[in-house]
Amino acid sequence: MNQDARGNYIENQWTIPQTPTDEWVRENPAQPEETVFTMPWSEDGADSAVDAAQRALSDWDRRGIEGRLPFLEKFRDALQARQDQLARAITLEMGKPLWESRTEAAVLLKKIDIMTGEGLRVTDPVHPEGLSGGSWQYRPLGVLAVLGPYNFPLHLANGHIIPALATGNTVVVKPSEYSPLSMQLYFECVQEADFPAGVINLVQGPGPVGARLSAHRHIDGVLFTGSYATGRRIKEATLDRPGTLLALEMGGKNTSIVCPDANLEQAAHEITQAACLTTGQRCSATSRVVVHRQVADELIDRLQALFRRATTGDPMDDDGPLMGPLATRPGYAKFRRAQDDDEGGNLTPILKGGAHPGYRDGYFVRPALWRAAQPDRRGSHQAAELFGPDVVIYTVDDDGEAADVANATDYGLAMSVFTADEKRFDALSYDLKTGILNLNRSTAGASSRLPFGGVKKSGNHRPAAILAGLYCTYPMATLRNEARFDPDSVDEGPLSRLSPESQ
Ligand code: NAD
Repeated sequence: MNQDARGNYIENQWTIPQTPTDEWVRENPAQPEETVFTMPWSEDGADSAVDAAQRALSDWDRRGIEGRLPFLEKFRDALQARQDQLARAITLEMGKPLWESRTEAAVLLKKIDIMTGEGLRVTDPVHPEGLSGGSWQYRPLGVLAVLGPYNFPLHLANGHIIPALATGNTVVVKPSEYSPLSMQLYFECVQEADFPAGVINLVQGPGPVGARLSAHRHIDGVLFTGSYATGRRIKEATLDRPGTLLALEMGGKNTSIVCPDANLEQAAHEITQAACLTTGQRCSATSRVVVHRQVADELIDRLQALFRRATTGDPMDDDGPLMGPLATRPGYAKFRRAQDDDEGGNLTPILKGGAHPGYRDGYFVRPALWRAAQPDRRGSHQAAELFGPDVVIYTVDDDGEAADVANATDYGLAMSVFTADEKRFDALSYDLKTGILNLNRSTAGASSRLPFGGVKKSGNHRPAAILAGLYCTYPMATLRNEARFDPDSVDEGPLSRLSPESQ
């Protein structure tokens, strides 16, 4: 299957670059000899798309939410009608099992419901009580670039696009080059919703297209989900434009703490799920476990038993496996390389991971479990986001040490604590440096009705999900003079100091 590329979608027209910089070929990660998408790309599309978005801005803003909502509702209907097609495209090009892609396709609709409902309330105008004529309202930033990753190719871009459009911005979307097909289908739904020309535009291509777009001088904000390395490049490229808002949703190295009073069966199940879902390629995947010494052996036995049962297979299978292949060739090579690296003897393998050979030569892997002698911020497992099912286990003697080890990472997206004692959880929450802290559930999975974002190298304090409207807007304060003008009042104010009228 090789889907025809329709190119960029700018001002409601599909256009294929006539003088392409290069051609991008996307293979099927489950059977790499199959090409699923071939597209010529050029950085120039970014300029045309930004121009179009600028032209559309004023009218879209002035429509108000009542004028914008019908388009978003029509868009929701179009996405609903194509649920199966969208899910199949996600699986085909990035390899997550179909059952998981179906969940992603369904969440697109839920996000529209939330972000046109309670998500909009966070940007409602504010009238401080007792302040006569005083208010503030949230104004759109302008033209926003949305840059997405491959692991949730539609859900994460959609999570920026919907709040941006609802609050009156126009957008230019650049999806991951590893998932161009699913975004092309998403934009066919955009086309069916018949948005005013230029309100929502698509440019396809690899990193250089994203770089051109985010550095464009007429971009008012960059809403980015991806790796820390790319987020850093975007920050660098915009240093001379401090007015350009950056919402950077970046990587994670997420830790579960298991206390001695925890339900170990529950902890083992939750950790296995969070390590293996999406083949370990979630920003919120668990890759570190900190366990109290007295329950470490039992937890490790349980984790080993569950990890051994992780199934791998054809992601298109309707009754599919737990894990499909890794999504990218470089990611697969990095994961395999790391399996031969015990970080100078600091790590002892408990369960050997690595390539899962023989299945159509796809990028399939087995999950890995390691035991660390001590935490180390360097190294291919402990420091870097491996983006595959690979978990390092640390053993500690008390909660203070557990918090220290949990914090011994440059990332701060998600953590979780397994304990029967809520007070213990509350006490730990003072010490743990993380944007998301779960109790008796894994680090993965989140609610669109809560903020989603991390600290340290995971984010820049612009959480997405329910609070996304805040980073798409800025507050404009207004003071209205509600009293009638009284000339006598002049005698009591600063103007009483005016010199007598000139004769
Ligand atoms: P990536 O950083 O490689 O790419 C993300 C996007 O940025 C792609 O569209 C890419 O083409 C573009 N890009 C590349 N170079 C660019 C440049 N110089 N300027 C502008 N754009 C550029 O990320 P990925 O590998 O696609 O996704 C995996 C990463 O995303 C992981 O680190 C993961 O943890 C992270 N992630 C974070 C969250 C979150 O909410 N915090 C969610 C999902 C994924």
